[in-house]
Amino acid sequence: MSLTEIRSRIHAAEEAAGRPPGDTRLIAVSKMQPDERVADVLVQGHRIFGENRVQEAAGKWPGFRERFDGIELHLIGPLQTNKARQAMELAQAIHTLDRPKLAKAIARLAQEMGRCPDLFVQVNTGEEPQKAGVMPVDADAFVTECQGLDLPVRGVMCIPPVDEEPALHFALLAKIAARNGLSGLSMGMSGDFETAIALGATHIRVGSAIFGARPGEPG
Ligand SMILES: *Cc1c(COP(=O)(O)O)cnc(C)c1O
Repeated sequence: MSLTEIRSRIHAAEEAAGRPPGDTRLIAVSKMQPDERVADVLVQGHRIFGENRVQEAAGKWPGFRERFDGIELHLIGPLQTNKARQAMELAQAIHTLDRPKLAKAIARLAQEMGRCPDLFVQVNTGEEPQKAGVMPVDADAFVTECQGLDLPVRGVMCIPPVDEEPALHFALLAKIAARNGLSGLSMGMSGDFETAIALGATHIRVGSAIFGARPGEPG
């Protein structure tokens, strides 16, 4: 599907939800995609991208930044504490703040560097044991803890369980954001971004619908 087509679907979903056009930010998730597909989307004028591994982002984006101005990079994958510095140097936003140890490391580095990317707290809305994110019941306390460290928490993020109705998870995430006074909602992927927009997503993370199937993954 083309970028133009995705944009028009986003606008239609915004309109249907009674939201102003352009209210939703499209993060083009370029993980594992060949460079020429990413360059093609850059040439079309898109500038907001998502990666889920620091290592891969570090290999790929400095080169693109030499060729294209105004790139905004969002880290959307699990972050190890020992990669926090590199992540903060590369990314303008981190969507996977999910534990006190990482929050403390980011706070310390932010002091040292004099700046900090926008942060989203990842919530494990499906309470899946193997998935990252704070449990819904712990989310409020963790947001408060992060704010106590002066971290710029802009919103919350979730990845719903693959086999469940995403709308329930998006609605739960929206509730958690609202009761914590957070405006950012990072939710919705290729298969469900219209549902996410209907439920208030401010950042959707769309990969395969823009770039095609990732090499090595079933289309
Ligand atoms: C890969 C990934 C996406 C994009 O998934 P698609 O189904 O290709 O749109 C979104 N969010 C996260 C956290 C991801 O890891």
